[in-house]
This record gives sequence, C-alpha cells and structure tokens, in this order.
Amino acid sequence: MSRPRLGLFGGTFDPPHLGHVAALRAAAASGRFDEIEVTVAGDPYVKRATGTVRPAEVRLAMARAAFAHLPLVTVSDREIARTGPSYTIDTVLEEIDDYKSIDLIVGADLLAQLDSWHEARQLATLVRVAVVPRPGSETVFPAHWHCYELPMEPVDLSSTFIRELAGGDLSKYVPSDVIPIFEAHQG
Ligand code: ATP
Repeated sequence: MSRPRLGLFGGTFDPPHLGHVAALRAAAASGRFDEIEVTVAGDPYVKRATGTVRPAEVRLAMARAAFAHLPLVTVSDREIARTGPSYTIDTVLEEIDDYKSIDLIVGADLLAQLDSWHEARQLATLVRVAVVPRPGSETVFPAHWHCYELPMEPVDLSSTFIRELAGGDLSKYVPSDVIPIFEAHQG
C-alpha cells in the first residue's frame, strides 16, 4: 500500500478558534490529504517573545476539544513531548519516512515568516505549503518554497482578538467545548 499524504497544521492555539476549524475543514475537503495532524507547539518561540502563552497542556486540551472530531484530523502532542523550542523541521524529520508527502497548512500571514524559520532552506526542500487566506494578509508566495492555495471562505478572527475579549461572549468565535477550558485558565 502506498504511503499516505500528510497535512501538518501547527499552531499555538491560545485559544483555537473558528478560523482554525475552517482551515482544517478546507484542507480535508481539498482531497489532497489522507491524514491531517494538528501539532500544538510546546514552546512557541516566536510567540513567547511577544507575551505570555497559556501552558502547553491547556492549549493541547483546547485543541483536542476544538479539532479532534473533524474529518481526517488527529491532534498531536509530539511538539510538547519534545524539549526546547518547537521547530517544524524537527516534526517533519520525525515523520518524513512514514508519508508519501508532507504539506504544511498555514494561514497567508505566515508566508512572510517562512524564510526565518529554523533550518528554512532544508524545510523548503522537504515540504509543500498549502496556504489558506487570512483577512489582512496578502497571499504572496515566497521564492524557493512550493506553495499553493487551499480554497476557503476567509474568516476574520485571531486568537489575539479572543484573548482580548476574555470575559465577553466567545460563542460566535470559539468551538463551544473550548470555552470552559479557556475560561478556567485566565491569566
Ligand atoms: P495569535 O492571534 O495569537 O497570533 P492566531 O490566531 O494566528 O494567533 P495560531 O495558533 O498562531 O493562531 O495559528 C495557527 C495557524 O492557523 C497559522 O498557520 C495561522 O496562519 C492559521 N490561522 C489562524 N487564524 C486564521 C484565520 N482566521 N484564517 C486562516 N488561518 C488562520
């Protein structure tokens, strides 16, 4: 049997929201993947530099509540189990032999950062990049990466917006099972 095609959706998920859910549904509907793995960053080194992030175990519990029931999706703690900063290249190298292909699923806002990721040159040779639209960010493919668009109705939402709403009604923005976990861990 030929090896499956993996879509890898990494994030901080502090908290997961309906924009993430839409991206995962678009990925599943695209027919490009046999499996989709959500990886919760144990130590999101980019975000850590700009403020506090909820503990990894809390973000993992929220990601499971938000995503685990979606088609093709599993939620992985592999980046939490590892020590040190969560580098996508390490995840890809762990999994590459098990899959026919690995595509990173990212929002358009991340395209401008890809070249600054750890071991970016090597990563660009190992994966393709499936890009979902993100309001406020143009979809501009960086040179040297194999990128393509995943069609999706844009969702204007971010975890930052939801953190700033804390105490307000989150039900329009966050899957309902996430809300009690998020509210139990306010900073
Ligand atoms: P923050 O506001 O804290 O920066 P975020 O909303 O961008 O967080 P992350 O967990 O950092 O959420 O994002 C994980 C992945 O989901 C990234 O690839 C990001 O581009 C993508 N993403 C986040 N929100 C959306 C959205 N509304 N539409 C499409 N993709 C999104």
